[in-house]
Amino acid sequence: MNHFELQGGELACEGVPLSRIAEEVGTPVYVYSSATLERHYTVLRDALVDAGLGDPLIAFAVKANSNVAVLATLAKLGAGADVVSEGEVRRALAAGVPPQRIVFSGVGKTEAEVEFALQTGVAEINVESEPELHLVNRVAQRLGVRAAVAIRVNPDVEAGGHAKISTGKAENKFGVSLSEAERLYANASNMAGVRPVGVACHIGSQITDMAPYEAAFGKMRKLVERLRGEGLSVERLDLGGGLGVPYFNQPTPPSPADYAATIAASMAGLKDIQFAFEPGRMIAANAGVLVARVLHVNARPEGRRFLVLDAAMNDLLRPAMYDAYHDIRPVRPRDGEPLAYDVVGPICETGDTFTRDRMLPPLQAGDLVAFMSAGAYGAAMSSEYNSRLLTPEVLVRGSKFAVVRPRPTYDDMLARERPAPWL
Ligand code: PLP
Repeated sequence: MNHFELQGGELACEGVPLSRIAEEVGTPVYVYSSATLERHYTVLRDALVDAGLGDPLIAFAVKANSNVAVLATLAKLGAGADVVSEGEVRRALAAGVPPQRIVFSGVGKTEAEVEFALQTGVAEINVESEPELHLVNRVAQRLGVRAAVAIRVNPDVEAGGHAKISTGKAENKFGVSLSEAERLYANASNMAGVRPVGVACHIGSQITDMAPYEAAFGKMRKLVERLRGEGLSVERLDLGGGLGVPYFNQPTPPSPADYAATIAASMAGLKDIQFAFEPGRMIAANAGVLVARVLHVNARPEGRRFLVLDAAMNDLLRPAMYDAYHDIRPVRPRDGEPLAYDVVGPICETGDTFTRDRMLPPLQAGDLVAFMSAGAYGAAMSSEYNSRLLTPEVLVRGSKFAVVRPRPTYDDMLARERPAPWL
């Protein structure tokens, strides 16, 4: 469920018409609903708690939506943060996430990033390889601390809505095999600079079927039991994120309750463990839309009808990168027979095509459209390609809204660059 509904014939976010935001802030613009963010977090937390999974650490995957106001909305409910860079650690801290609720993942942390994370006192560093374990051990000893680490396991299961977001197969770059994890965990327990506290996995994104989760979680549970059988302490089991969201016209994902029930069944009888989760998409995707304006309707005499928008692949990369499907809705739908449109942006790439042959109500230049389900991996993946300004972001609460990332000016954009001394 989300809070983008037609009100009085036009699409609104909670109590604010999208056209009002478009007028005041301009387009393209990302709009997020606080009520939807809060609802998704709460539904997941309640499902996990009701399934008997204790007091889980729900660390929102900052990569999905890294806006500090969005993070602060979730932090107020008790959410932690799953981060993959120093920048994301800094964003989580700026949003008020306590360091004890930050989990640092990622296959290539630099020495400086590890140092920053340890000085900050993050809850856990998810170590993805043997060289990284040695790096964390070295940096921690230099700083005179003992780093809490989890070993990220690659459980070798196929999962995720697209090859580019599948992370849990042996051929993917993430984590170590189950047998390696056992060896590294034992080694880590003898290192002066690290303290192994748990194991972690994250098998992919936009997962719409519980079978890969069941396969992976069963393997993770056995790993915990084997480690404990060797006399090693395992306090935390991080099961990652990846739960799919109901994108319009796409396979329906399991509900948070089904997800929680499957985990509870896989983990039945496993004692003295804290579960951690790293959801991103399921919290943020349907809590945001990208609003764009129609620049032209270019109906070619030969047949194709291009809807040219002022939003482009630099603002919303998912269709170009993953062939992702986004429902596109007119903000003020007109009466009339639907027509087939190729919806495109102004960038000089054929890949700057959001969709082809999409049946939409009739649209004219100046109309507004909303890309639904754009709250995750939308603004966070945007760029200035073609020297287009970064899209602003707006957060709505009830009948109020705030610009939580203003559109930069062209002067801001140019001020970041310097002439070379010889020019
Ligand atoms: N955790 C890790 C380590 C990830 O790499 C990702 C996404 O790629 C996530 C969590 C979040 O995944 P999702 O947004 O599908 O929940």
